[in-house]
Amino acid sequence: MQRIVEVEKFSEEQNFESSLRPTQWSEYIGQEKIKNNLKIFIEASKKRKEPLDHVLFFGPPGLGKTTLANIIAAQMQSSIKTTAAPMIEKSGDLAAILTNLEEGDILFIDEIHRLSPAIEEILYPAMEDYRLDIIIGSGPAAQTIKIDLPRFTLIGATTRAGMLSSPLRERFGMHFRLQFYSPQELAKIISNGAMKLGKNIEQEAAFEIARRSRGTPRIALRLLKRVRDFADVAEEEVITFERTKEALEALGVNEQGFDELDVKLLQLLAEAKGRPLGLGTIAAALSEDEGTIEDVIEPYLLANGYIERTARGRIATPKTYELLRLSPKIQNTLF
Ligand code: ADP
Repeated sequence: MQRIVEVEKFSEEQNFESSLRPTQWSEYIGQEKIKNNLKIFIEASKKRKEPLDHVLFFGPPGLGKTTLANIIAAQMQSSIKTTAAPMIEKSGDLAAILTNLEEGDILFIDEIHRLSPAIEEILYPAMEDYRLDIIIGSGPAAQTIKIDLPRFTLIGATTRAGMLSSPLRERFGMHFRLQFYSPQELAKIISNGAMKLGKNIEQEAAFEIARRSRGTPRIALRLLKRVRDFADVAEEEVITFERTKEALEALGVNEQGFDELDVKLLQLLAEAKGRPLGLGTIAAALSEDEGTIEDVIEPYLLANGYIERTARGRIATPKTYELLRLSPKIQNTLF
């Protein structure tokens, strides 16, 4: 079953998300530093009549990387071609994408850390010199054909900066790490989202959803959509605080927005009583893959001080014990 606070996209959500996706800076809430920098770089490259330098976004899913890529395209008045690394299996797939680009186009590659080394090799000259090197034949008879490409901008998005090879990372002129959103920012995103859905929402209700959204717009908008269903069924024009609380309780979203998996991870660490646990151990205990734990579950818990990552593994913090209503003393008595 999918978690309501799952950060990955549900398949039914594609249309819903694109209908709520901001298309201009004024609608893109938060991430001020990134916005300010990008605005300057966009203006500079427009003045020089050059394509924007390649951009890399990293951060957990649902924080607005795809949205930023789309806003950049709109600001540059460029068209954007979107793909994801797992869809580029053969070198021919990438060659086809690159040769179909037009001058100034933006190519957005999601999950860029999942490109195979062979595909990355093709990207290097394309990014650096707008050139495609195709090798025909093999052995001594092999020939390299060079094809000029239009000048384009590559925007890469990744949840795992550490997994990107350094030659690839270095070829991006700009690197931006997205941050989790504050409840105030999420409340604004929720109010704007409600307006786009043709519904009013009480300020307090927006904050209630915001606090339980794990700092992530995708989760905030998903919860909004579900809460709206409750309001619609009750035939209420405005999404009220009371209805929101009732809906969130019914959906099983707790005060912190943690779901079963978050709590299981915290419990596991608390039960280890201060002994660091490795990623492999945690993954096995939760029957989840390591990537999901590292990319999806841990970042928010780490950013909010619920777990600590040491060289020897993950440990619980006093905040964890407090949350689980255990005494932090448990940890100390073991040493
Ligand atoms: P990512 O690519 O990082 O997984 P998306 O760009 O797909 O995330 O964003 C997920 C959803 O959250 C989209 O519906 C988008 O409209 C919304 N969203 C993300 N960031 C913002 C923001 N800063 N302001 C308003 N809405 C946002």
